[in-house]
Amino acid sequence: MTTAAPDISDTTTFVPDLLYSGGRFHAGYALVCDAEGRVVSVTRVEELPGETNAVRLRKRAMLPGLVNAHSHAFQRVIRGRTEYRGSSSDSFWTWREMMYAAAQRLTPEAIYDASRMAFMEMALAGITSVGEFHYLHRTPAGGEYEDPNLLALEVARAARDVGLRIALLRVAYARAGFRKEPDPRQLRFIEPDPAVFIRHAESLARALGGDPHAWLGVAPHSVRAVPVEYLRALRSYAYAYHLPLHMHVAEQPAEVGACEAEHGRTPVKLLADEGVLSPRFTGVHAVHVTPEEVALLAKARACVCACPTTERNLGDGVVPADLFFEAGVRVALGTDSHTQIDLLEDARGLEYHLRLKTLRRNVLAPASVKDESVFEGAPEVAGLAARLFECATFMGAESIGAHAGSFEPGRAADFFTVDLEDPTIAGASPDDLLPAIVFSASRAAVRETAVGGRLVVESGRHPLQGEIVSRFKALQKRLWGSDE
Ligand SMILES: [Zn+2]
Repeated sequence: MTTAAPDISDTTTFVPDLLYSGGRFHAGYALVCDAEGRVVSVTRVEELPGETNAVRLRKRAMLPGLVNAHSHAFQRVIRGRTEYRGSSSDSFWTWREMMYAAAQRLTPEAIYDASRMAFMEMALAGITSVGEFHYLHRTPAGGEYEDPNLLALEVARAARDVGLRIALLRVAYARAGFRKEPDPRQLRFIEPDPAVFIRHAESLARALGGDPHAWLGVAPHSVRAVPVEYLRALRSYAYAYHLPLHMHVAEQPAEVGACEAEHGRTPVKLLADEGVLSPRFTGVHAVHVTPEEVALLAKARACVCACPTTERNLGDGVVPADLFFEAGVRVALGTDSHTQIDLLEDARGLEYHLRLKTLRRNVLAPASVKDESVFEGAPEVAGLAARLFECATFMGAESIGAHAGSFEPGRAADFFTVDLEDPTIAGASPDDLLPAIVFSASRAAVRETAVGGRLVVESGRHPLQGEIVSRFKALQKRLWGSDE
């Protein structure tokens, strides 16, 4: 906890009733931000100079902004449209057909509208940064747009207009799969030549410029979609420029099987052998991994991104977060397909899915606290909630390369508040509040969201909310109106 009295020239100060820092809530503290939107300090209110122009956030608890490390914004358009059994055995692969049908129909403007909707919903949920795993690059017929990054830039514009930070994780997609015929519904994703991908990535980085709110990352889609020589080229490029490198890994058993058939190894083993694993690497999902693969991820200090609300919706399986934590692998969280956009639901899902699987409670609680008597339940829950909250903030920031995720001086002044009178958390003591928020808060309890010290959500509303919703409704009508 920083208590130094700040130099208040050109600063903004926020004063909530309670402020979360160092694993617990404190009363009587303020967050001081500089003109560049970075944290200057967390300071005792009585130490603030008298003339400070403070924003008082009454009946609010303030927490570091949530980081959504894995998103496909456009998939917001299929929400509610895949919850029907289309064949005798619906699965991830039949869901994917529906997603492809949507991806085929989207114009650049539609991608902007869908992304803006997804990002606004994120802002309303307390999310301040997003890792957007973006794979729509080409026209529906597979041609190049005049600017090959047109669609990525529409997504970045949507994030900017909503007010979120975005890591634009530009996806490389080379083929349908090992020994698989090209699939015409993947034409918008495919860039078969890694040199072309890198050229486009560089031009995207230039277009994003030095904006601290938007930056480039590299994302080979999966071992299924990217052959090994391509992967090597991307690894060298990403690490030469210190870029985050994200990849879907072991989401489905069929993907692991195909990797073994092609490479004689499981996916994480292949990535380890090819030098892809590193502290800048994030394996998204990592559901079907062996203990040996967990150890390889730990050894490389790589990250995993779990997406529990999507993984349960798609029937992917349960992320073995217990094994990852035991081995010291960092775990970030993502809302992925946007069945729900509520990152705290993903945080609690990480734990709850393991409870259902193991028939135990507090599975992910830190070992040192877990060793205490079960009758001293509170500290155990507090330790667990703090750990899950860290996944939703600091670990996500590490994964996407954002200097955010905590109120440490110099980091981004990104935060959200919850209403202490919201019925889902009212009555919690400062000691119980974090577990109450992580396990019980409704998204509606989020009242303010700030990015770089600037409020993008106030009193539970985004300033563009009416327009964003009505444009999104019109888009949905255009996309799906014929069958309604
Ligand atoms: Zn994904």
